[in-house]
Amino acid sequence: MAKRIVIVGGGAGGTITANLLARNLHHELTTGQVVINMITNTPDHVYQPGFLYIVFDKVRSEEIVRKQRDLLDSHINLFVDPATKIDREHNVVHTQSGKEYPYDFLVVATGSRIVPETIPGLAEGGHFFYTLESAKKLRDALKDFEGGKVVISVGVPHKCPVAPLEITFMLYDYFKHKDMLDKVELQYTYPINRLHALEPVANWALPQFEGKGIKYEVLFNMEEVDPVKKVLKSMEGVEMKYDLLITVPPHKGAPVIEDSGMGKNGWVATNKQTLNNESYTNVYICGDTTDIPISKAGSTAHFEADVIAERISSQIQEGSTSTRYDGKVVCFVETGFDEATYVWFNYKNPPKPTPPSKMLHWMKLGYNRLYWLSAKGVL
Ligand SMILES: Cc1cc2nc3c(=O)[nH]c(=O)nc-3n(C[C@H](O)[C@H](O)[C@H](O)COP(=O)(O)OP(=O)(O)OC[C@H]3O[C@@H](n4cnc5c(N)ncnc54)[C@H](O)[C@@H]3O)c2cc1C
Repeated sequence: MAKRIVIVGGGAGGTITANLLARNLHHELTTGQVVINMITNTPDHVYQPGFLYIVFDKVRSEEIVRKQRDLLDSHINLFVDPATKIDREHNVVHTQSGKEYPYDFLVVATGSRIVPETIPGLAEGGHFFYTLESAKKLRDALKDFEGGKVVISVGVPHKCPVAPLEITFMLYDYFKHKDMLDKVELQYTYPINRLHALEPVANWALPQFEGKGIKYEVLFNMEEVDPVKKVLKSMEGVEMKYDLLITVPPHKGAPVIEDSGMGKNGWVATNKQTLNNESYTNVYICGDTTDIPISKAGSTAHFEADVIAERISSQIQEGSTSTRYDGKVVCFVETGFDEATYVWFNYKNPPKPTPPSKMLHWMKLGYNRLYWLSAKGVL
């Protein structure tokens, strides 16, 4: 009987894993020894880093959305039918339409989502840029904005740890280009006692903020928003007036994770090297939904996908595997409209941001276009 691989989630991690598996197992797939089924909940694949550029009218939505089917190897079966329960005891995934997908190997890559509703008043009073719709709404609000205090506030946990810094630097350049810097005050808040979770990045960002006159309040955890009075309150007792509130709300994993008893708030216990879900050696977790204390980023999902595809292919072809994930993450960080910096790090080596340059910015823009090749498993 054919070995059945089921991948739940057709985002960055799931798509790269599926395409790499199809390449590694081409012979087994074409001779009926392996079947790959992908279960996802939308026919579209969205390149989320593109939301930053939507906010500033630098890309159109059609540039960052493609059909999931077009990204997948033709041997992969795609089912747009949300998973409702993952039953690890019986090796089966249940879906909304009532179907069951038994598996020999399972990859869970259901990502993470913003949950503004966990902070009273935030959904009504705050703008976001972590979904396509909210990014467009923020773009339109910025066009109408005539000046005042712009508060950028960050909740935890959240994906793309550098995006709050990027939007702050890009806002600075946006108002500079509109000749509005004298009418705008930029105020950033962060939940811990520095500007960023990664200390070298926080140390690097501090002089950038000071040089641009961007104010900051650290140890600020959003508690409540009064959308009428336009006040953001923190758990630490600070009340901050705003004219425009832009936030990265706290995140949770997909509801199916909690509904399946796989992890509180949708984060799944994952071995940081094998990427197995605890003792389930046939279950792998990829991308944002792991509980590994590492950046939730597309590049993390990509490097994890490399490891997971290699491990499953070896388990099928050789009966064993020794490939391990070393915690590698790579990020280009926009420091405005025409410069960027770059960091890479892993479990052993901390990040060292390089001086911002135009070349790194062009590389980030280049990667934004090359992403589709990454998703196809080519890059
Ligand atoms: C504004 C912004 C900027 C970013 N910038 C960067 C950057 O510069 N660099 C970087 O590396 N990362 C960046 N990221 C983060 C990156 O996009 C994510 O970390 C990455 O997409 C995570 O991949 P994933 O596969 O874990 O989840 P996702 O790509 O979110 O995919 C999850 C998939 O699971 C599906 N799904 C969910 N529930 C179910 C269900 N019940 N059944 C079936 N399918 C389901 C979803 O529809 C989705 O297709 C950014 C993110 C944002 C929002």
